[in-house]
Amino acid sequence: MSKLPFFLFDSAENKKIEFKPDNPDKVKIYSCGPTVYNYSHIGNLRSYVFVDILRRSLKILGYQLDQTMNITDIDDKIIRESIHHSVSIEEFTKPWTEAFFRDLEKLNIEKLEHYPFATKSVEEMVELIEKLQENGYTYEKEGSIYFSIDKLKSYGSLSKVEATGIISGARYDADEYEKDNVRDFVLWKAPKEEKEKSWNTKIGNGRPGWHLECSAMIRQIYSSGVDIHTGGIDLLFPHHENEKAQSEAAYPNEKFVKYWMHCEHLLVDGQKMSKSKGNFFVLNDILDKGYDWKVVRYVLLSFHYRTKLNFSFERLNEAKVSIQKIQNAFNRISSEMKSKNIESIRKPINHSEIISCRPQEFALDYFQNFVNAISDDLNLPKALASIFDSIKSINTKLDSSSLSNEEMIDVVKYFYQIDCLLGILDFTNEKIDNLSLSENEILALIENRSNAKKNKDFKLADSIRDELKAKGIILEDSKDGSVKWKKSE
Ligand SMILES: [Zn+2]
Repeated sequence: MSKLPFFLFDSAENKKIEFKPDNPDKVKIYSCGPTVYNYSHIGNLRSYVFVDILRRSLKILGYQLDQTMNITDIDDKIIRESIHHSVSIEEFTKPWTEAFFRDLEKLNIEKLEHYPFATKSVEEMVELIEKLQENGYTYEKEGSIYFSIDKLKSYGSLSKVEATGIISGARYDADEYEKDNVRDFVLWKAPKEEKEKSWNTKIGNGRPGWHLECSAMIRQIYSSGVDIHTGGIDLLFPHHENEKAQSEAAYPNEKFVKYWMHCEHLLVDGQKMSKSKGNFFVLNDILDKGYDWKVVRYVLLSFHYRTKLNFSFERLNEAKVSIQKIQNAFNRISSEMKSKNIESIRKPINHSEIISCRPQEFALDYFQNFVNAISDDLNLPKALASIFDSIKSINTKLDSSSLSNEEMIDVVKYFYQIDCLLGILDFTNEKIDNLSLSENEILALIENRSNAKKNKDFKLADSIRDELKAKGIILEDSKDGSVKWKKSE
């Protein structure tokens, strides 16, 4: 009943289809996570924000989630670097893993249910290889084990790569190993030098190939396939094609992935990000320039995930204005309710609260437009446009004081719903030390004063200024029309 429809663009079908999970009260989603040898750059962060938007949207639509993002801590670069620094791979990756989680926290990305580590899933990887050996999909050369793609008819069905052709420019396994076919990929790598970290297992001494990690971790967490598998578009081939091949060849009677979703690239000022061009940014580079995390989050979520995101500092500045517009509208409602002693409702936290907090009457249309946009393959540009339309209408109602108490409460519910997705609004009405007002209340009064000035009601504008002054707030009007406030001495 409470589940609203969701349509998504499935990369395998190459079209938008209706989402029908195995169990809507436990939707299984797997997303390829970071390789922890460095900070995540903002292109990586975009794909993590995309996972967050998918999660938060499905929650608003009434689904319950069981999500996984893996941590790749076995990788050629990691092994090389840990040998170079004479530390174990655990010691080498620990600070990068911590940095990854700190970035997610800074961007208010919700915690998922599972974050498995490759180093803790080697047993499951070995099991998967044994299954593939049993089913006849592997061959061995010089201690390494390969997957033979010729044996699997469906190979290429996800990325639409012809099994016999080779995409130019695509990255193949860059290993210097002898394979029968250039496109076969390695499942298990024999150690090349003595110091190299390896695991002594039933199938020999070595370490897993990257593609194998994800297939095994999905098995480890869910003992089955998943409803949705996500990743950056650059992972479609060969990574996801190979994941699919391994899992379907090992468990031919099971559906590995019901829907594939891929997030597009991020560009900076229209160009591919690269260290040599000086347009390569990690989150801290941007925050250190004085930008708030909220504007970064806003820019990363404001594009449709299937379009290239063109990042620029100008966009961050624009985002600041957009966020303030939404926040101000909420602040106005909030202070209006306070002045009328209307008790507000609490922000919903869990699944049932989010559903029971859906607007029912006055704000139902606003909510419906918003939901229609997110249920249409997470159309965030459309969702944001609907939010600004709603805010315009709400502000007009507030200007003419034509909202009833119940209508105001319904609007508050609407703000809670949109922030379940955006995750950037401030609902606290905490008083600032020594002042009788909270920042939200101050900003709301400033907004009221600006509106009064716009309507040439200078008497009202002055009385608001005086009211703030009496409460210890001094306003400073700047030339560009913006207003700053400070505490009086
Ligand atoms: Zn993966």
